Amino acid sequence: MKAVFSDDEKVKILADLIKINSVNGNELTVANYITALFKKYDIATDIIPIEENRVNLVAEIGQGKPVLGVSGHMDVVDPGEMSKWDTDPFELVEKDGKLFGRGSTDMKSGLAAFIISMIEIKENNALTKGTIRLMATVGEEVGEKGSQKFSEEDVMKDVDALIIGEPSGYRLVYAHKGSMDIRLTSKGEAAHSSMPSLGYNAIDPLINILNKANEQFRSTDKKSKLLGDLTFNTTVFDGGNQVNSIPENATAEINVRTIPEFDNKMVEKTLKQLVDQENKNGSKVDMNVFMSLESVEHSDNSKVLNLAKEIGEKYSNGEIPKLVSPGVTDASNLLKKKDYDFPFVVFGPGETVVAHQANEFVEKKMYLDFIKIYEELMIKYMQ
Ligand SMILES: [Zn+2]
Repeated sequence: MKAVFSDDEKVKILADLIKINSVNGNELTVANYITALFKKYDIATDIIPIEENRVNLVAEIGQGKPVLGVSGHMDVVDPGEMSKWDTDPFELVEKDGKLFGRGSTDMKSGLAAFIISMIEIKENNALTKGTIRLMATVGEEVGEKGSQKFSEEDVMKDVDALIIGEPSGYRLVYAHKGSMDIRLTSKGEAAHSSMPSLGYNAIDPLINILNKANEQFRSTDKKSKLLGDLTFNTTVFDGGNQVNSIPENATAEINVRTIPEFDNKMVEKTLKQLVDQENKNGSKVDMNVFMSLESVEHSDNSKVLNLAKEIGEKYSNGEIPKLVSPGVTDASNLLKKKDYDFPFVVFGPGETVVAHQANEFVEKKMYLDFIKIYEELMIKYMQ
């Protein structure tokens, strides 16, 4: 294939993306940049509004079946404490073969690699058949609204295989746990602590529920051979405001990491039963599931997974393992209606250990190699 971009130009595209501050928002500017770049090569984009300044983007090359979906998010996480950064997080800085900047690993390098691969494949007329569909999302880091919208609009309906370009480095991920955020709000009645019978302690019901929940969720015999155990943790607890007053309000926030054998619906039902039981005794506890992403588990022997392994191993200096990951991705929403045999892999440049950290970086060589890997993978998948 003849190269459309030099290595410097490929790094420049990543630098342009990192320069756009898309900390949990402002994905519109990223989408506008991608649209302008694609336009130069006659690739049209569809912009799907989510909120003000926040849009999903869809772009395609080729035509007909099969359809290979590639997906990445356009948002990044907050740089955190600036004093921990050696360089400006929104300026790509190259040092010792590493490209530093917020999103260099998670995941503007994966996104850039998809975009560049699609342009180079199109310019070379390298697809014999089939369609490559880029689905770029908003808000993967908080709330997953972008992939939720794609799921509602059935953008995955005719897609035959999915690659998510989250940073895996030279590892393949084909399954991950789900995640739920739940809030319990307890209403009591304030009173002086010398006369508790005049009030109703809002903290007590939460303690009862959470104790029982810890016991039930942690001693369950529902286990996943592949993903391990479900985890249940109260992560925020708040209640009362004065040591000699009976607390009127209390809240608890819970994070659950789910598995197919004990899925989000079952978790919600189990916890709801404990809340109802407590409320029967006169408590006023309200339960609100404010985020719910399902676990994802697909075959470890699909065409797209095996091709990624075979092609990746030309660059990886060693065997590429097939693994499961504890973290969630947009796949929870995108693969909602797909069964176990649907070909799926998370495979992208970068290292998860530096994601969300100060001085985040991607190895320049890995970034450039992933462009070649994606190009070969996209072409061979269609053959
Ligand atoms: Zn990410």
